[in-house]
Amino acid sequence: MEKTHTLVVGGGQAGIAMSEHLGAQGIPHIVLERDRIAERWRSERWDSLVANGPAWHDRFPNLEFSCGGEEFAGKEAVADYFVDYAANIGAPIRCGVEVTHVTPLAGKGGFRAETSAGVIQAQSVVAATGPFQRPVIPPLVPSDAPVTQMHSNAYRNPAQLPPGAVLVVGAGSSGVQIAEELMRAGRQVYLSVGPHDRPPRRYRGRDFVWWLGVLGKWNAETPGPGTEHVTIAVSGADGGKTVEFRALANQGMTLVGMTEGYDAGVMRFAPDLADNLRNGDRNYLSVLDEADAYIEANGLDLPPEPQARVIPDDPACVTDPLRALDLAKAGIGTILWATGYALDYGWLAVDTFDDKGRPIHQRGVSQVPGIYFLGLPWQSRRGSSFIWGVWHDAKFIADQIAIQRGYMAYHDAAQPVAENA
Ligand SMILES: Cc1cc2nc3c(=O)[nH]c(=O)nc-3n(C[C@H](O)[C@H](O)[C@H](O)COP(=O)(O)OP(=O)(O)OC[C@H]3O[C@@H](n4cnc5c(N)ncnc54)[C@H](O)[C@@H]3O)c2cc1C
Repeated sequence: MEKTHTLVVGGGQAGIAMSEHLGAQGIPHIVLERDRIAERWRSERWDSLVANGPAWHDRFPNLEFSCGGEEFAGKEAVADYFVDYAANIGAPIRCGVEVTHVTPLAGKGGFRAETSAGVIQAQSVVAATGPFQRPVIPPLVPSDAPVTQMHSNAYRNPAQLPPGAVLVVGAGSSGVQIAEELMRAGRQVYLSVGPHDRPPRRYRGRDFVWWLGVLGKWNAETPGPGTEHVTIAVSGADGGKTVEFRALANQGMTLVGMTEGYDAGVMRFAPDLADNLRNGDRNYLSVLDEADAYIEANGLDLPPEPQARVIPDDPACVTDPLRALDLAKAGIGTILWATGYALDYGWLAVDTFDDKGRPIHQRGVSQVPGIYFLGLPWQSRRGSSFIWGVWHDAKFIADQIAIQRGYMAYHDAAQPVAENA
């Protein structure tokens, strides 16, 4: 049986960051990736996707993107970046190897990992299998309903969809970008908009990633009260622009409220569209207010931008919202569910999950000694599941592993003394 100190499961950004920090601590480790490095950026994202943040920000500290810093790297460039990064740090990563089962080694300490390429024994295991593992489609429309249903992780481009109008459910970053792309390709699009945050893309000459940074919001430890499920609608498409739902409606998109039911070919929507838009506006304006206050407090010379406060009037689909949509009559060929993801740790047989299968942990340190998580949403802060944030969380986890390794070294060194005494 092959042995290592730390087994890292998953070779996305989290696994690579973990490898860098473990390497810096001199901790022997192996990273196992079932597909290719950063696979999800290659095969679970749509063709035109670009990073949500500019290249100067959405990266690890020790390597810049080859494109300009203000550009939004395309999804393939993001994957290539991590391939290069792994090579630069000499990450001991093995691709095409799936971890199928991890169990504690009873009476021995450490863990036994069954993989598609044999068994590995490790003192520690880091689960770096991603914040977005299993696509979630709410169980509303039966699978045999006469309409194509697709999750956003399977969407590639407009030509892939059957003819007809499209109902996009979910207006976070994925839903709103896909809906706009479909509209530009000539599709009639209905977009179901739930609660969301909608930061300005840029304000007074600075990108929102900068504002969230200087205002300390990437470091927020928990979502605001009552906002646990609020998605963030932001886009780097077309060089980056603020998501403005009313402008999309003025260009022909039909906005509807939260999708809440389906019966005999008719989709029903909640009467919450106007409220959701207004709460999104409130979030948008609060960032402007905090940015203005920051500029004043720090005496920064950044050009005022009063026009950023102009919110377009509500279009007809907001003042007189659709509550029901007969899918056949509206010519809907596809329902595209941009409804998020769930975690799936079916391979990890240790006692550190709650009744919903969510990891029980503190900053990624589980309640089972030797088991760690990395890349979870809000693992330590808002930035945890994003490129720059996971690198810092990985550093913390590597520290914890090194600390435990130190205790074991002390124990092992003391053993012969105890025996001789
Ligand atoms: C549409 C979309 C756009 C995003 N855009 C941005 C952005 O612009 N900027 C940003 O900072 N963040 C962005 N994110 C968030 C985040 O950066 C990505 O989700 C990123 O892929 C997370 O990286 P990760 O390494 O934590 O997980 P993943 O990329 O999911 O990597 C986990 C890896 O583990 C492997 N794996 C899983 N199970 C096993 C197993 N049992 N054995 C072996 N290997 C396994 C998978 O194949 C995968 O490669 C985006 C997310 C989405 C969904």
